Amino acid sequence: MKLPFFLARRFVAAETLEDTLPVVRRLHGQGLHVTLDHLGEHISDRRLAEQARDGYLDLVQTLGDAGGELDRNISVKLSMLGQRIDEAFCLDNLYRLLEAARGQEVFVRVDMEGSDVTESTLGLFEKVHAEYPAHVGIVLQAYLKRTREDVDRMCEMNARVRLCKGAYREPASVAHQKMDVIRERFGEYMETLVTRGHYPGIATHDDLLIERTKTFVAQHGISNDRFEFQMLFGIRTDTQARLAADGYNMRVYVPYGSMWVPYFTRRLRERKENVFFVLRNLFRG
Ligand SMILES: Cc1cc2nc3c(=O)[nH]c(=O)nc-3n(C[C@H](O)[C@H](O)[C@H](O)COP(=O)(O)OP(=O)(O)OC[C@H]3O[C@@H](n4cnc5c(N)ncnc54)[C@H](O)[C@@H]3O)c2cc1C
Repeated sequence: MKLPFFLARRFVAAETLEDTLPVVRRLHGQGLHVTLDHLGEHISDRRLAEQARDGYLDLVQTLGDAGGELDRNISVKLSMLGQRIDEAFCLDNLYRLLEAARGQEVFVRVDMEGSDVTESTLGLFEKVHAEYPAHVGIVLQAYLKRTREDVDRMCEMNARVRLCKGAYREPASVAHQKMDVIRERFGEYMETLVTRGHYPGIATHDDLLIERTKTFVAQHGISNDRFEFQMLFGIRTDTQARLAADGYNMRVYVPYGSMWVPYFTRRLRERKENVFFVLRNLFRG
């Protein structure tokens, strides 16, 4: 059964790229940067992975053709490019995407997925980063117990990192489960990244962590052009606008496309109020 798109509208910009571009222009008009994510993940068919790659190539071309009017920044999940089918095939797709991205001066952020692919994702990232250091970045998740070492490694590589808490259900053997521990780790990694990292993205809607970041950079004389805040489309839009107005770089992650159900489900799981929001709209619609 295909769910109607209006359910997802709060979190997903549109089902097509064409309909997403006005949303991006509106966000730019509010002083916000964006990263565009063509939704899709866990692809298990080569043909579909190639289609996904071609969709991303179109996106890169569209951003290049816009001639600076639109932010040249995209986010991609490797499972969409065939990571779970064959790593070599995925790497080839990623190289093709990065070659096009470099040609159009587009920055590609490799999203982080479940812990079963963390090692593979970092391995593939290290390979491509060696060749495209200015055009590719990675995501690290504060809930994973391994992340302290990954933060250090990415700082040594001078790689651009987006730091987030982590959105997948993970067992206690690999991931911290308590919010106060995850928050504390996030704070520590944020401090390392804004001090030693390369233009990190501090991706959270959590007021405590936003305040901790603002306080830390102010106390250490770290200027606002050395990092950015990142939030998801449709979440805490007032805070997004306020941070931008206060002179911080604020990037909004804008997902679009017809394969929105897994992304949408993660957003619902994060917050029970979202389930009520959707149910209310369902009965209204
Ligand atoms: C730009 C960006 C990119 C991301 N990329 C990845 C990635 O590659 N891999 C990955 O595993 N995770 C990713 N995430 C998700 C992240 O790991 C968290 O699951 C998510 O951000 C919720 O954690 P939080 O720190 O925002 O704070 P929380 O403690 O969950 O929330 C703090 C407050 O923010 C608001 N809020 C948070 N979530 C929601 C929501 N869904 N709906 C409404 N309000 C909400 C509420 O006011 C809440 O009280 C990304 C997040 C962002 C912002």
